[in-house]
Amino acid sequence: TQVIQLEGVAKRYDSAGAPALGPLTLTVEQGEALAVTGPSGSGKSTLLNLVAGLDKPTEGVVTVAGRRIDRLSEHEGARFRREQIGMVFQFFNLLDDLTVEDNIQLPAQLTGVPRRKAATRAGELMDLLGISKHARAYPGRLSGGERQRVAVARALVNRPALLLADEPTGALDTASGHDVRELLTDLHRGGQTVVLVTHDLALAEACASRTIHLVDGQLAGDTRAQAVR
Ligand code: ADP
Ligand code: ADP
Repeated sequence: TQVIQLEGVAKRYDSAGAPALGPLTLTVEQGEALAVTGPSGSGKSTLLNLVAGLDKPTEGVVTVAGRRIDRLSEHEGARFRREQIGMVFQFFNLLDDLTVEDNIQLPAQLTGVPRRKAATRAGELMDLLGISKHARAYPGRLSGGERQRVAVARALVNRPALLLADEPTGALDTASGHDVRELLTDLHRGGQTVVLVTHDLALAEACASRTIHLVDGQLAGDTRAQAVR
């Protein structure tokens, strides 16, 4: 099954000049962990935003989790994201006035999952990610690595078809970065489809089954790993 299909997709921010991305055609299969690498300005964020439905292409068709998303209204796009996409960011984007467990449950509650069920799912994810002892703590008291685990748990609580990670180790020290790397690798091993944008080639090498390289918005490389370690 294909989780992402980009067909002749291009994005222009202004009508003059070359597109910021594409035109490109790209398919990501269920269970792949795709790393998107490339220099600053090469179109990585643009690609991620198109796949998340946060932005629309100027040309082409974007299909994610079986749904064509390049024509959705803002409301439909927000709903699609809540149900199908989990996102983690460099700076965690947690809500500091909610406890860890409430942060994790929030996306489930926003999609109408009953409170008990949301709590159960959050509990399972906290166990899986080793953060149960922080359930009642506020994110501000946690280390960077722990906060990123909370962010990953929050991103997974609605069992998204796709986990998008934008420089998830970018704000972490080496040890915590290593932790998050292991975590993403474990998720991939467990069958989660992942798209990871990173400058960190070690991260890409460690947890991606496939790496694409963008240069000036064009696909300049597409490599599959021999096997995931
Ligand atoms: P990366 O994530 O690889 O750094 P981006 O996707 O952010 O690259 O940017 C690709 C190109 O598109 C760059 O030339 C950037 O300046 C341009 N760009 C990105 N976002 C916008 C925007 N909102 N408006 C105008 N130009 C943009
Ligand atoms: P709204 O539901 O208000 O439209 P947005 O989709 O605009 O929310 O997202 C608001 C913020 O949350 C943005 O920073 C966005 O990148 C982030 N975000 C969007 N979808 C997700 C998601 N599935 N998981 C985590 N963060 C998300």
